[in-house]
Amino acid sequence: MSARDEVLAANESYAATFGDKGELSLPPARNFAILTCMDARLDPAGYAGLAEGDAHVIRNAGGRASDDAIRSLVISYKLLGTAEWFVIHHTDCGMEFFTNEVMSELLASSLETAALGPEGFTAVGTGPGSPEGGNIDWLTISDQEGSVVEDVTRIRNHPLVPGSIPIHGFLYDVRTGRLIDVPGATEAGAAR
Ligand SMILES: [Zn+2]
Repeated sequence: MSARDEVLAANESYAATFGDKGELSLPPARNFAILTCMDARLDPAGYAGLAEGDAHVIRNAGGRASDDAIRSLVISYKLLGTAEWFVIHHTDCGMEFFTNEVMSELLASSLETAALGPEGFTAVGTGPGSPEGGNIDWLTISDQEGSVVEDVTRIRNHPLVPGSIPIHGFLYDVRTGRLIDVPGATEAGAAR
């Protein structure tokens, strides 16, 4: 079965028991937003107890406070009323295993999927690649807690983010499913 067929079959079951979720209102009912990593092991609905309609979840590689993540957060409060935010990175994040230089070299050599081994990502496959990867900041992570503090601080100091929104910083532990407080982040993100 292709992924497409699997998704459509799953959707058939989901829609069959959709119930009254069609009546949910657009603004998130619980008035908060989570910025987190796209890692397939993370299930924000599960780890934070969310149902449809509850909260905004913004995901990207690393859960980083990129310009686009901030765009979503600003829309989240300004138009849809969220009043409390969470930045949740995690242990064993793939963003720790490469740098901008490594990524641009991998892309320059080939557009095929790289191999991940104990030494990090290595180039496999044939070219041509593209030098365009060198023009992107991949927002990699060299310090798990440091990246949470950095992102909370960046959001806190953004001119379009009101001081009234508390921003909490956490690491999600992929081995236990627990959220671990990052004290420096929560301090940096305190409402003021
Ligand atoms: Zn990750």
